[in-house]
Amino acid sequence: MHLVDVEKAIEHVQSCANFDGGYGTGPGAESHSGQVFTCVGTLAIANRLDLVDIDKLGGWLSERQLPNGGLNGRPEKLEDVCYSWWVVSSLAMIDRVHWIDQTKLAEFILKCQDPNMGGISDRAGDMVDVFHTHFGIAGLSLLQYPGLLEIDPVYCMPRDVTNRVLGRTSK
Ligand code: ZN
Repeated sequence: MHLVDVEKAIEHVQSCANFDGGYGTGPGAESHSGQVFTCVGTLAIANRLDLVDIDKLGGWLSERQLPNGGLNGRPEKLEDVCYSWWVVSSLAMIDRVHWIDQTKLAEFILKCQDPNMGGISDRAGDMVDVFHTHFGIAGLSLLQYPGLLEIDPVYCMPRDVTNRVLGRTSK
């Protein structure tokens, strides 16, 4: 961290914040859940989550859930399993995971499995791949699905490993 001008980085992240509570790829760019993950993750690492409009962002993120339980990356887009990571990790960082229907999301992710080959696809019936399998399982972990290690939403490692690396004693 001492090799980076953290104040300047935070200033840039703040310049990417939008009126809807989300963050885009640059100043004035449309809010997108992938950028929300990177921006809020940066602020979490820098210990500056106080800069986030938590209820506004939590509202925007929870609106990513569609009636079928899956999440999209931005308004008017289709659901996709990988957003189970980008959206839910961001909700976890601001302690708002309970604002979505977690049971419906877990059901959606599980429905995207290939019952013969194994693995998870972006949405049910599509070809499975490593990317969506990874983010599907990571998403299920954030939902505290039974049998999975608890993942840290900021550092993307098992929670106990992150705690050890960072010298944290608890969550
Ligand atoms: Zn995807």
